[in-house]
Amino acid sequence: MSTGKINVSVENIFPLIKKFLYSDHEIFLRELISNATDATLKLKHLASIGESKVTYGNPLIEVKVDKEGKKLHIIDQGLGMTADEVEKYINQVAFSGAEEFLNKYEDSAKDAGIIGHFGLGFYSAFMVAEKVEIITKSHKDEPAAHWSCDGSPEFTLVAADKADRGTEIILHIAEDSTEFLEEGRITELLTKYNKFMPVPIKFGMKTETLPKPEDAKEEDPAPTQEVDNIINNPNPAWTKQPTDLETEDYKNFYRELYPMQFEEPLFNIHLNVDYPFNLTGILYFPKLGQDMNAQKDRIQLYQNQVFVTDNVEGIVPDFLTMLRGVIDSPDIPLNVSRSYLQADGAVKKISGYITRKVADKLKSLFNNDREDFEKKWNDIKVVIEYGMLSEEKFFEKADKFALYPTVDDTFFTWEELEAKIKDTQTDKDNKLVVLYASNKDEQHAYIQSAKDKGYEVLLLDSPIVSHLIQKLETSKENVSFVRVDGDHVDNLIKKEEEQISKLSDEEKESLKTVITEAIGDTSYTVQMEAMDSEAAPFIITQPEFMRRMKEMQQSGGGGGMFGMGNMPDMYNLVVNANHELVSEIMNTKTSKKKERLIKQSFDLAKLSQNLLKGEELTDFIKRSYSMIK
Ligand code: ADP
Ligand code: MG
Repeated sequence: MSTGKINVSVENIFPLIKKFLYSDHEIFLRELISNATDATLKLKHLASIGESKVTYGNPLIEVKVDKEGKKLHIIDQGLGMTADEVEKYINQVAFSGAEEFLNKYEDSAKDAGIIGHFGLGFYSAFMVAEKVEIITKSHKDEPAAHWSCDGSPEFTLVAADKADRGTEIILHIAEDSTEFLEEGRITELLTKYNKFMPVPIKFGMKTETLPKPEDAKEEDPAPTQEVDNIINNPNPAWTKQPTDLETEDYKNFYRELYPMQFEEPLFNIHLNVDYPFNLTGILYFPKLGQDMNAQKDRIQLYQNQVFVTDNVEGIVPDFLTMLRGVIDSPDIPLNVSRSYLQADGAVKKISGYITRKVADKLKSLFNNDREDFEKKWNDIKVVIEYGMLSEEKFFEKADKFALYPTVDDTFFTWEELEAKIKDTQTDKDNKLVVLYASNKDEQHAYIQSAKDKGYEVLLLDSPIVSHLIQKLETSKENVSFVRVDGDHVDNLIKKEEEQISKLSDEEKESLKTVITEAIGDTSYTVQMEAMDSEAAPFIITQPEFMRRMKEMQQSGGGGGMFGMGNMPDMYNLVVNANHELVSEIMNTKTSKKKERLIKQSFDLAKLSQNLLKGEELTDFIKRSYSMIK
């Protein structure tokens, strides 16, 4: 047996960096601009604490494309490097100067917004360049340095004559990366990653129109001037204090984030914590309506104003991914896999914080202007209902502001609803019976009949409502939800006095057999009930439990039973034993006529439920004409 040391040759590191460091080659620009930003912010910090004698001024970062020379330049006016510092920070791969700076100035610099920390960002330049040069002049009184490297581990470092402070990085773009010499491509990258970075970034010039002088003639063209084309907004709204922002500022920022979005957001939530983790941001509630599949991935994630990703899965609770906006946190470990992310303690806290903030905001909107909250309800309910289903903490909070609208647009909270129906809508076991409809037109007759009896009927029509109802029934005590066509209200809700049946039990039993035979359809179960004589003679209902299970399965998510989706629909045919027509059927002697009466009544009941189709409908119409002629 022998032991030894595996020799990792430094020769091999460049091809590795090139291939594997980042899967996305385009991020090299983000890294270099981050370094330029860091260099600028470090100088600002040193100047502010008196460790640098320079005047900070209004430094810029400039990006220049030299298509002919096949070069890309990134030029900053930051603190620069001495030759020694180049040796130390650049030649030692994976030594982060950013981290060193933060450690050294631990207390004073923690809010300076320094981005780097892995000490690898700079080398991402070699993913797209065959040669990289650094020409840099330190803010300290030392000569400028010129470093150059062609991707092999050999580099050269010589003195340079750069006079002004700062660093210029020159990338000699490789043959396979010439896309990065296209102006359009660079603009695209700058707007994607650097749109809100804290130091102004110049890319080319643009023409600006000036106001016409007082004495200009109508036909004189407005004067113009060439100005720096600054591509970023260094002070985006989320970095400001909520107290410094007006509603209009939030709306403007929304337009800045989503220039192609014409609809205004309903409201926003400003996130701002610095303990136990750092997080700022603004979330917007867009108008969502019924659409559960509203475009996700619209929330952008930043680290110190550098765009990182628009995939916030695992960081933002799932029900909030329908929102829009920005989250900025230096504390989210983004270099790890998503599954690890979800287990990360800091990330869990962040997600919990965001949930709480959203709940608090909704609560205050509800408290401060209930009328307005009710108006917005239909556009925000999918998020709230989804949140109630998936996050227990949110459910507890939302219980105070979640609304239950009636078919007549009265909005109840749960507490109000309970108070309203507790004496009038209970079943035989004293359980609260919440009646609801999912479609005002389709269930019109049932809604009407329930309302005529003085019951409240809710309109619950969002796509996940069957799941929500299931959840409410389990977490609230003694409540059952029944859709208005789920059973006849007379059978559901306990009445002061029982209806007395006009028919005897034997009569009911024999009539039930006759009707079952006459309709000849096994998906209907005939039920004889003594109801109010005003109620319809034949009523079709669809038992709540089965229907809900099927719906839950169709809309996805848990709770559905396997195979339910393929079950045929099951109905009850409720026959009102107290109705005149039913007595008439009873008393009709000829069996042919009896059968015709039953069929006709059954078809009418089906028709009212939109269940009469095809040949059955044709036959029904024929039969009806022959009856009235
Ligand atoms: P990190 O940014 O994580 O520290 P990088 O590989 O991106 O690592 O950069 C390494 C170091 O090189 C930086 O920390 C910094 O000290 C130095 N550096 C890189 N770019 C510049 C620049 N434009 N101006 C001054 N120093 C720079
Ligand atoms: Mg860096």
